[in-house]
Amino acid sequence: MPVSAAARLLLRRSPPSLLPPRHSFFRRSISQPATAKKKDAAAPVAVVPPSELPPFDYVPPPYTGPSGDEILAKRREYLSPSIMHLYKTPVNVVDGKMQYLFDDKGRRYLDAFGGIATVCCGHCHPDVVAAIVEQTKKLQHSTVLYLNHSIADFAEALASKLPGNLKVAFFTNSGTEANELAILIAKMYTGCQDVISLRNAYHGNAAGTMGSTAQSIWKFSVVQSGVHHAINPDPYRGIFGSDGEKYARDVQDIINFGTSGHVAAFVAEAIQGVGGIVEMAPGYLPLAYDMVRKAGGLCIADEVQAGFARTGTHFWGFETHGVVPDIVTVAKGIGNGIPLGAVVTTPEIAKALTKRNYFNTFGGNPVCTAAGLAVLRVIEKEKLQENAFEVGTHLKERLNSLKDKYELIGDVRGKGLMLGVEFVTDRQLKTPAKDETLHLLEQLKELGVLVGKGGYYGNVFRITPALCFTKEDADFLVDAMDYTLSRI
Ligand code: PMP
Repeated sequence: MPVSAAARLLLRRSPPSLLPPRHSFFRRSISQPATAKKKDAAAPVAVVPPSELPPFDYVPPPYTGPSGDEILAKRREYLSPSIMHLYKTPVNVVDGKMQYLFDDKGRRYLDAFGGIATVCCGHCHPDVVAAIVEQTKKLQHSTVLYLNHSIADFAEALASKLPGNLKVAFFTNSGTEANELAILIAKMYTGCQDVISLRNAYHGNAAGTMGSTAQSIWKFSVVQSGVHHAINPDPYRGIFGSDGEKYARDVQDIINFGTSGHVAAFVAEAIQGVGGIVEMAPGYLPLAYDMVRKAGGLCIADEVQAGFARTGTHFWGFETHGVVPDIVTVAKGIGNGIPLGAVVTTPEIAKALTKRNYFNTFGGNPVCTAAGLAVLRVIEKEKLQENAFEVGTHLKERLNSLKDKYELIGDVRGKGLMLGVEFVTDRQLKTPAKDETLHLLEQLKELGVLVGKGGYYGNVFRITPALCFTKEDADFLVDAMDYTLSRI
């Protein structure tokens, strides 16, 4: 098999494992994966690895800090043992520019995970960095008890991106906080306590949000009352296939048989991120929204991952379903990596929070909101939504052709630059190919590509890069996957 010199070098550079990872997520042994069983076994074509990443005009300065070994040792001693890492030998990331990351040896990686769908404009995008630096030099923190234009300017800009009367923002520091607040507002506004969320959802890990999160791997054994988990309208694994109407009936059943007939809220992601890039069956969301509203509840769209232009066709994920929520929660992409979240709702609903004092020390601080405004401007200036659509469409097409080639790929799904590839050892039974997924993840890293992993069974690649990802990047990613799949 012809292998370029650069690729041979890359393939030989598999460093020995450092300390064994502690967290069970990545501790599991990687057994020899099953054969990827090509469909056309009669005509095997040798697949060559992609030789070089697309050209990029940036070389990071030499790194003089501690090694990965030293950092890992310190982490193990001084950080919570709950902190997990990807890869047997985790990457020591020391620099990042746009869709690329650099390790301590100066090696460049194609970052197809984007800090978990967070870096939307690109790592250290100059406009966002400039906004942060300028604001930090002027005023870093004062709280909303004093006036400052940064929070007001960003709130106005954010409102301009939302439909209807969704124009009042409350800023937080994270997605969890945003969802906690949204649920609180819904309870205060409706006077009801029952919340409906979808199975397989992830909405956060504080008291209320852990209740609405619906995957046992993210739930601790603590009281999480008042949340009903509706059947997930998952076209691939769901019991009703793509029949949105049948899934929606479960929402009505929950209202009829699990509550007083009145509910506080329904919360859902437009595309489940942590759950493994799961799209909703067509027609589901408008029906579910109707049922919830008839029961007096508010509809909350968790746009933490799918928002901010990621789906390509629309700025918000909910728009792809033709609905307008009552409350929208945002985090991750809104700040391109700076801690920032938001709850946006109507002025009328927002009033519910005035019944008591509600305060967040850092929420909407000048630096984070300056970053948020810069992010919105970059998305428009660089037409990142259009790019997410174009590159995402191309990437999905190419991933689908990989699916035609390899039986191991059970499903390719998602929109724009929020794509998922689910691996199964048996397409009929949809048996999760968990070990194979881990193996592929490791092998891709060796080729210089970083993707995310998710889904309840840990058998889905999550591809959520910065929205400046190019077609050449997409081709490199698919070529690298093709090569690794051909060798499994
Ligand atoms: N909602 C969704 C859809 C998420 O994916 C996440 C984080 N993965 C959260 C909420 C929670 O966000 P954070 O980690 O910022 O608290």
